[in-house]
Amino acid sequence: MSDSSLRLVWVYPDLLSTYGDQGNALVVERRARQRRLNVSRIDVRSDQPIPTSGDIYLIGGGEDRPQRLAAERLRRDGGLNRAVANGAIVFSVCAGYQILGHEFVNDLGRPEAGLGLLDVVSVRGEGERCVGDVLADIDPRLGLPPLTGFENHQGVTHIGPSARPLATLRIGKGNGTGDGTEGAYNDTVFGTYMHGPVMARNPQIADLLLKLALDVNALPPVDDQWYEALRTERITAAGQPA
Ligand code: GLN
Repeated sequence: MSDSSLRLVWVYPDLLSTYGDQGNALVVERRARQRRLNVSRIDVRSDQPIPTSGDIYLIGGGEDRPQRLAAERLRRDGGLNRAVANGAIVFSVCAGYQILGHEFVNDLGRPEAGLGLLDVVSVRGEGERCVGDVLADIDPRLGLPPLTGFENHQGVTHIGPSARPLATLRIGKGNGTGDGTEGAYNDTVFGTYMHGPVMARNPQIADLLLKLALDVNALPPVDDQWYEALRTERITAAGQPA
């Protein structure tokens, strides 16, 4: 972590922030403050340079055209790649997730280069758009409770050998490949199709990012009974065991 304060960077709110994904930044800030951590949040618009000294970077989802514009600018800027090379943590949603991969299909129907920070490639799904509620079990290595959220995307994401699926689906389409996976991650870079905002529904993901940024195994506990009651409600409403 740089200096004494944790630097949280919210990338391109003007292009990538569908379905309230900005809520993820609010949740990371709140979970940090609940642990009395000093956190500063920097919102970086797409006409501004990406700072390379951030500890945690968050990227949201977007429509197809803003997604292409964001990818062009992030490639040209290069700051996010430099930050990851310096050990920064990145958490991305939907369009942001596709941009972090090697390639995705843009709004013009052409392959568009991503940032190559996550070993995934996204193509345009031939079938129906993936829309609806999702319930998935996060990779047990990450020690997190079941993931709930909703998805709305046409892209289908294939995971390469140096990334792992973030979760295994119980309900929903996730990566859309039919292999039952949702999202992907490596040591410091995470991607998911989940909106919600996903961290408002699964605040333990914010805690995971904080732990990685601080290089600690645990954080002081906080009262999560409301979050857990809501999670249980959503899971049982989906007809699943909690
Ligand atoms: N435009 C992308 C797709 O449809 C991402 C959509 C989103 O971020 N919700 O696959």
